[in-house]
Amino acid sequence: MNVAGPLIKLDQAAGHPAPLIDPFARAITYLRVSVTDRCDFRCVYCMSENMSFLPKADLLTLEELDRLCSAFVAKGVRKLRLTGGEPLVRRGIMTLFSSLSRHLKTGALDELTLTTNGSQLAKYAAELKSYGVERVNVSLDTLDPDKFRAITRWGDLDKVIAGIDAAQAAGLKVKINAVALKGVNEDELADLVAWAHGRGMDITIIEVMPLGDIGDDRLGQYLPLSIVRARLAERFSFEELDYKTGGPARYVRVKETGGRLGFITPMTHNFCETCNRVRITCTGTLYMCLGQEDAADLRSPLRASEGNDPLYAAIDDAITRKPKGHDFVIDRRHKRPALSRHMSVTGG
Ligand code: SAM
Ligand code: SF4
Repeated sequence: MNVAGPLIKLDQAAGHPAPLIDPFARAITYLRVSVTDRCDFRCVYCMSENMSFLPKADLLTLEELDRLCSAFVAKGVRKLRLTGGEPLVRRGIMTLFSSLSRHLKTGALDELTLTTNGSQLAKYAAELKSYGVERVNVSLDTLDPDKFRAITRWGDLDKVIAGIDAAQAAGLKVKINAVALKGVNEDELADLVAWAHGRGMDITIIEVMPLGDIGDDRLGQYLPLSIVRARLAERFSFEELDYKTGGPARYVRVKETGGRLGFITPMTHNFCETCNRVRITCTGTLYMCLGQEDAADLRSPLRASEGNDPLYAAIDDAITRKPKGHDFVIDRRHKRPALSRHMSVTGG
């Protein structure tokens, strides 16, 4: 019999920790984990050129990340996405994929996946597939090598394309994520859609979000997706799709290509009602909403005890504070980001 402390909610029948249901009756079944804040790129909308990164000692070890993810799986998370920073630059990251794959084998987890900039994918695609990863999201905003270098500051387009080739050759399904940037790739987005669909890949266009001080003028980058969509509609015809991921994307089928196209508009509130996700940083901080500051420290309860009960209690307590929705705004007067943390901290 389980002996639970007063704070721990147990599903008595199953003897499992109780599933995660927030105050708005949303079941939390999707966890995104940032496994590192480091990256081999410095995308202009994500990082400043001179980022200072966390001391390595602050990071959860790979074993701790495994334990934390597994605790969420025990509490009903069915989909796990590793992100960052760049997840594939974390040393030893394949051992984490390997150990987490046991939850796919038991059926506790439906999906283990990652979001990557693709730079290391040529090296790891086949191994990822062997650990049960079926799909990857690759971020790519342009097919022009010079523009690619300008956006990522340090990136090499050829390597990313080679990574996508390797992923497809390994049998991974690839989805492209492209951030729409005013005056940078806005004229190219239709070609990017045609290219992705021509290679059998879905593509999602993301509205730039005001996260973190990037040493640049946010208002200069912001391009509303209503404009993007209207321009794409001059070349393509769309069929609305019901397809939902519980996430912020709205999908259409492009009739000319047969491919799927998503739009992520985080600045609007149209997806919060069905939000099923939470995020963990590489230091074990749980964010209940990408657009809010409220967070819970899970590293302390993780390290305080070898048993998971204090951790489950901390998670339960945090989920009771999951807000109804976010409140993104670019502070136009001061040109400040709405939130001070970078996307590479919470993970995209
Ligand atoms: N390094 C990996 C990558 O680039 O795919 C994973 C982490 S990255 C933070 C995840 C996603 O967030 C990427 O698709 C990136 O384009 C997106 N992103 C980063 N900063 C953003 C911002 N300010 N607004 C919108 N999307 C952003
Ligand atoms: Fe790195 Fe991804 Fe951020 Fe670009 S978007 S700097 S690849 S973490």
